[in-house]
Amino acid sequence: MKLSFLSAALVSIGLVCSQAHASVEQLGLSHSYQASTPTVTDTLGYPVGSRISSPEQIYTYFQALAEAHPEQIKLRYYGESWEGRPLFYAIISSAKNIAQLDDFEANMQRLADPRQTSEREAKQLIESMPASVWLSYGVHGNEISSPEAGMLTAYHLLASPNAETSEYLENTVVFIDPLQNPDGRARFVSRYYMTVGLEHSADRISAEHNEPWPNGRSNHYLFDLNRDWLALTQPEIAGQVEALLNYYPLLFIDLHEMGGDMSYYFTPEARPYNPLITESQRESLWKIGENNGRWFDQEGYDYFTREIFDAFYPGYGASWPLFHGTLAATYEMASARGHKFRTVDGDILTYGDGVQRHFIASLATIETAAERRQALLQDFWNYRSMAIELGEKADDRVRIIADQKDPAAARKIAGLLRRHGVDVMASDAQFKACGKTYPAGSYIVDSAQPAHFMVRVLLDQQIDMAADFLAEQEQLRANNLPDQIYDVTAWSLPLMFNVETDACDKLPRVAMSAVSSDLIDAGQVINPTAKVGFIVPWGDMNAGRFLAAALRQGLTIKRTDLAFTHANGQRYPAGSLILTKAENGEELASTVVQLAQSTGAKVVGVDSSWVTDGPNFGSVNVKKLHAPNVAIAWDEPFSSLSAGHSRFVIEQQMGYPTTAIRPQQLARSDLSHYQVLIIPAAWGNISAAFGEAGVENIRNWVNRGGVLITMGTATQWAIDSDLLASAREKSAEQKSEPSHGSEKRVAGKIFHDHAELAHYIEADNPDPYWTSGVLARAEVDQDHWLSAGVKDEVISIAVGNHIYRPLTIDHGRNIVSFAAADRVVASGYLWAENQQQLAHKPLLMWQPASKGMVIAFTQDPNYRAYFDGLNVLLMNAIFGGAAHATPLR
Ligand SMILES: [Zn+2]
Repeated sequence: MKLSFLSAALVSIGLVCSQAHASVEQLGLSHSYQASTPTVTDTLGYPVGSRISSPEQIYTYFQALAEAHPEQIKLRYYGESWEGRPLFYAIISSAKNIAQLDDFEANMQRLADPRQTSEREAKQLIESMPASVWLSYGVHGNEISSPEAGMLTAYHLLASPNAETSEYLENTVVFIDPLQNPDGRARFVSRYYMTVGLEHSADRISAEHNEPWPNGRSNHYLFDLNRDWLALTQPEIAGQVEALLNYYPLLFIDLHEMGGDMSYYFTPEARPYNPLITESQRESLWKIGENNGRWFDQEGYDYFTREIFDAFYPGYGASWPLFHGTLAATYEMASARGHKFRTVDGDILTYGDGVQRHFIASLATIETAAERRQALLQDFWNYRSMAIELGEKADDRVRIIADQKDPAAARKIAGLLRRHGVDVMASDAQFKACGKTYPAGSYIVDSAQPAHFMVRVLLDQQIDMAADFLAEQEQLRANNLPDQIYDVTAWSLPLMFNVETDACDKLPRVAMSAVSSDLIDAGQVINPTAKVGFIVPWGDMNAGRFLAAALRQGLTIKRTDLAFTHANGQRYPAGSLILTKAENGEELASTVVQLAQSTGAKVVGVDSSWVTDGPNFGSVNVKKLHAPNVAIAWDEPFSSLSAGHSRFVIEQQMGYPTTAIRPQQLARSDLSHYQVLIIPAAWGNISAAFGEAGVENIRNWVNRGGVLITMGTATQWAIDSDLLASAREKSAEQKSEPSHGSEKRVAGKIFHDHAELAHYIEADNPDPYWTSGVLARAEVDQDHWLSAGVKDEVISIAVGNHIYRPLTIDHGRNIVSFAAADRVVASGYLWAENQQQLAHKPLLMWQPASKGMVIAFTQDPNYRAYFDGLNVLLMNAIFGGAAHATPLR
């Protein structure tokens, strides 16, 4: 590979930032680049790498490229961001490959499915098809250099007439998604240029280098999009996944930025390894890294591999594609977080430096794809074939999802699996499998399919880290050193949705139909011409969405605190909704039919209000629901993730609006317009943000009938503010040594062995050991309106080190408590002493306060918006809480 012309062209980008009269295009153009390709300067008026381009500018540039080279580049759209910006990718290849793009897509689908394609056909495809590589830039909006590198890479591929580039494009179809998170980038760019003075500051304490809340990393709903590849709740990732499943690119690279004092990271990845990533995949990733290393050596760039950034969790962009047989990896560049940044060594890192390195890494990767074309296609075919064989042999070959108690969640899992590229069937009739009988409509997933690994990584209850890795972690802890487990160690979809699944070793003999990717089935109304009214059985999100929509339409709705049996013989669970014609008028029937259709609810019309067991419609145990105005505390010091996730779940999954309010206004304003206030988790000091008067304002509001809901670590603030009579626990580990004290002269002490020393230097009175996220079982007290319609057992995240003392019965109720130590871990890895201490501790507490109440979740139920199994509980807290509070109305 001859790099000389490139080096000359590109080393200059770094200069561009300080001397705005030189640019890569101008320097390289006269002898290397063809003039017919528009440069960034031509289109946007400034040299590439000299300004942090806005999303609109990036889009404009790609449109200019597409207009100039219609035979070599196509733009495709996969959606729209929440703020209305286009989500798109470019396909770049030789004119011949672009002309045959439809064939390429169809051929890749054939190669991806050995059930439809013979070995011989596959051989022909492998010999003749181009390889493919998908480069995704800028998923974190404040990791700024990679989208600019996406523009430069596209420019280079189209403008360079040299033989190497032509060869790449003959052998490879290159997909470039330059802007995975346009809303986050827009937030960063607008704020950055707002803070710049006469000169751009390189100082890490300058306003340029410190983003206000919320920073540009996340999207509009403040999600970390690089955790959304499991639940696919955000358009930026859901749309990208749909596009990837059209082409099954052989390589997928997610290009990020990291701390500005580091160098550059690329594959191979760090431990712990996900055991569902194959040895062959790991070897190929190694080769991608090796070729990157060669290019970086030529340019004289530092880099590192393997030490950080693991792919254990499948919810990252750089891990999800691996489970379809794509080679996926993350690249990370030291971030200038602006035009320039002074490193700890005193060097100046520029924006252009980042653009350059990401560009070189992009080209190196494209070269790997081109040079290994046939081997990569062969590996992909082998992977998809082996996946089917593994499924055929597995004891748990067939997964059956048939949850009678929560059909909404079962339907959502089935639709979600389809969106992940997994084939899912529904039985046309009742059937028997492995000794159990299942009703018609049960979902069946045969893991003997090319997406076998995706089935397992999403549905398996437990995925283990290697025993030697775990032993090392325990050793580190024993030596008072931090462990290396990152993020979460569990994510099983059925657990997070709290849906039961079964496994069987063979396919049941029953007629089946393919399932669509819809997440909600249309609901139905039984007896729509009912004389008296309608009942909606409570317990799943179909009913939940119905409730939110009905309240927004201004309907009068009652909710029962106790289960009852209607004269028609049907039993309805606590929480069930009652809508009468007497209160809603004759047009109620048509409204209910339309609401059932859109929300998925199953509604039963009744011709009489007669109840044979449990409360009648007019009982004190049947409460009128008032449409509450829901506020969410917003801005510093709250976790933007917790605030954003809460807002998203309530607005987009339940369908109910919220109002975001900053602490200053919460502290000073009359809050009587609001009936529910949600305090998201926070790492900072909530008490300081509210001030004493603010806490007093909120306490008065609660006493006058407000429903205060705390999420995760915000529960500690409720305790500190005397709103909740619980306490946060220290570690339960008993120390044999007395406290060290802070004396400057102490009595002499003899250590007999190293263990005594290790014990002695432990901190006094430590918090429980910090844990990465696991899935924890919790038991539900069924005898309270807050648990109406909720299953006996729920699954929650357990992350961090907050463990709380239960409420005593004179103060309130512990509605949901973690299970016993031997059962508490449903999935993941939790330190033994945390299992002991977490057991029987509260997940959800309820404490009445005068006319209002405090409802405290000790872990965030909206974590990443993927604990669907906790949504009914949250709806009970918001809508049931507002119904049970007694403000002056
Ligand atoms: Zn990132």
